[in-house]
Amino acid sequence: MYPRLIQELVEAFSRFPGIGPRAGTRFALYLTKAPSYEIENMVSVLSRLKREVGICSFCFHLFDAKEQDHKNVCVICRNPGRVTGSLCVVEKEEDVETIEKSGVYKGRYFVLGGTVGMLRKKDMEKIRVKELTERVKTPSRFDYPGVFKEIIIATNPTPEGEATALYVERSLDSLGVALTRLARGIPIGGEIEYADEETIRSAFNGRH
Ligand SMILES: [Zn+2]
Repeated sequence: MYPRLIQELVEAFSRFPGIGPRAGTRFALYLTKAPSYEIENMVSVLSRLKREVGICSFCFHLFDAKEQDHKNVCVICRNPGRVTGSLCVVEKEEDVETIEKSGVYKGRYFVLGGTVGMLRKKDMEKIRVKELTERVKTPSRFDYPGVFKEIIIATNPTPEGEATALYVERSLDSLGVALTRLARGIPIGGEIEYADEETIRSAFNGRH
């Protein structure tokens, strides 16, 4: 058996997404052999994480909260040059980064924070559909300069992504805003996060 502290560390790493006890053990053992400065640096970064990384009050993407004048919004939401009227709804922060890299989209985003596996109440409360509906309904309450004319539902073409898109569509249906979906191009079962720029551009341009 490993010492108690190692076991605690393994448990902590095992809570990371995609990391089980085996990888958790490898990480913990690596740290026991790592030089002190590396550990100290990691401790410092971790202790600053909650203070220095903000969550955008409009779209829930992350931003550098140490910067001045951020008004609790991310770099995209505070950019006056972004196109007004369209909102791109994605599952997670990584999707914003990938779509931004393609340069095809110039409006604002909204990060749902996950997917619904099935349309179960417990699952549906996990993602930010209520927050999304509020922003689409009364954008001025969230300092948005205009109204939304198009909501692009850019969830992944996976079973969870499809169920999530359906739930988002139903929730926004009565608001009188055009709802569009990305064109196929991102392979079924594939994910936006891993798609190349050209694929993202054609999926956006072919949205319907
Ligand atoms: Zn934002």
